[in-house]
Amino acid sequence: MDIVGAGPAGLVLALLLARRGRSVRVFERRPDPRRAHPEGGRSINLALAARGMRVLRAADALDALREFCVPMPGRMLHVDGNQQFIAYGQRADETLYSISRATLHEQLTRSAATVVNIELNFGQRCLGLQSCNAGLLRMRDEVSGREYELRSEFIIGADGAGSALRDGLCAAGALQVREERLAHGYQEFTIPAQDGRHVWPPQALHIWPRGSFMLIALPNNDGSFTATLFLPEQGRDSFASLAAEPHALRALFEREFPDASALMPQLEAEALAHPPSSLGTVYCEPWQAPGRVLLLGDAAHAIVPFHGQGMNCALEDCLLFDELLGTGNDFAAAAAQFEERRRPDTDAIAQMALENYLEMRDSVRDPLWQRRKALALELEQRFPARFIPRYSMVMFHAEIGYADALRRGAVQQAILEELTTGDAIDWTRAARLVTERLAPVSAPAY
Ligand code: FAD
Repeated sequence: MDIVGAGPAGLVLALLLARRGRSVRVFERRPDPRRAHPEGGRSINLALAARGMRVLRAADALDALREFCVPMPGRMLHVDGNQQFIAYGQRADETLYSISRATLHEQLTRSAATVVNIELNFGQRCLGLQSCNAGLLRMRDEVSGREYELRSEFIIGADGAGSALRDGLCAAGALQVREERLAHGYQEFTIPAQDGRHVWPPQALHIWPRGSFMLIALPNNDGSFTATLFLPEQGRDSFASLAAEPHALRALFEREFPDASALMPQLEAEALAHPPSSLGTVYCEPWQAPGRVLLLGDAAHAIVPFHGQGMNCALEDCLLFDELLGTGNDFAAAAAQFEERRRPDTDAIAQMALENYLEMRDSVRDPLWQRRKALALELEQRFPARFIPRYSMVMFHAEIGYADALRRGAVQQAILEELTTGDAIDWTRAARLVTERLAPVSAPAY
């Protein structure tokens, strides 16, 4: 089996498949992360949640990552010069973990490199499909520039949101792709450590919600934070308006995020070195060329980052495909079942990720939102088998599929709205609504 892309999905799938004794070759366009730092010294981080942790554990890769993870049990809102901590959940294990993307790649690569039946090939770019029927890939060695053909029995496309394999299959008419670009982009900055320590409490994902835009910051284990500015691409307070005026970025930070601005001396230099990037959702159908190629992770269904689930979802893909394939050799059947089982869940998380942007940048400031959030946690305490806040289902309950989380979340939202029409909560009514409308959470789908 050949995997194109040694990102989180490609490497973890290789580890899972190899555990069953399967031989796997991985082809990655970038240099070996054990020797090169891909982000030029910057630390770009990701939030790891229960779904990702479960898969990393199954791949025997979690223990090596633990020391690099910074726990984030809640959000810290920066509003009107104050900081307000809001816990994500109510159990000690309801915690997200911030981890540097570069460290994750490096450690997963180290884990894969110790497995004899995994062959890692860096600096090898897939240019597309030469022949789908014959399983021929067009490849290029990025150091020598030499182009060559690679024959493969079965190919997994784990080459990310801009997948060359997906483009190749699309050009051959084997699948259709729709990319919905968001009208907002993002830009990443560093908030350096002071005297080797974090400038704010590190046990939180810091958010500056400002209505039509926001800043977030995730802690790194070297004492710094990585801040991400999400902003409209056009209009007032947009990346276009910032680009038009040299001091506009600093002025925006001083006006909207003064506590952060004071700690970011490199703001302008970083903005020049790392321009804004766009965001979007990739809808692709089907995900496979029967019997030959299967796309998974971002290559199949890239989503916007506002639920912090893209990687977690990509890792879950790997676990499901590995379970469906088992020790057998019917790749076509496993790929077909994978697509049938997985698509409702990836469609659901794509939708929830878009919805969560509004929540993060705007709703969190709303007293009614905060009241309903507190009520949801109270309902969870009283009816733990039936009422679990949607955010918690997505982030902390790997046993509940995304599609179920979306469906149950809609029922729960209606209950919260009905119960918060007056000042006091009618707990008798609450008990009746919850037991009538929400069945106990059922066993995991996979
Ligand atoms: P990728 O991580 O994109 O890996 C693809 C790999 O394939 C790369 O190594 C690439 O170099 C390689 N490749 C690409 N093209 C080729 C080619 N032609 N030939 C050979 N190799 C190739 N997700 C979370 O779960 N939590 C978060 O907090 C989070 N935050 C995010 C913040 C931002 C700003 C963004 C943009 C995304 C965020 N995500 C987050 C999403 C997450 O980054 C992705 O969902 C995840 O990386 C997908 O993993 P993947 O392995 O499918 O693809």
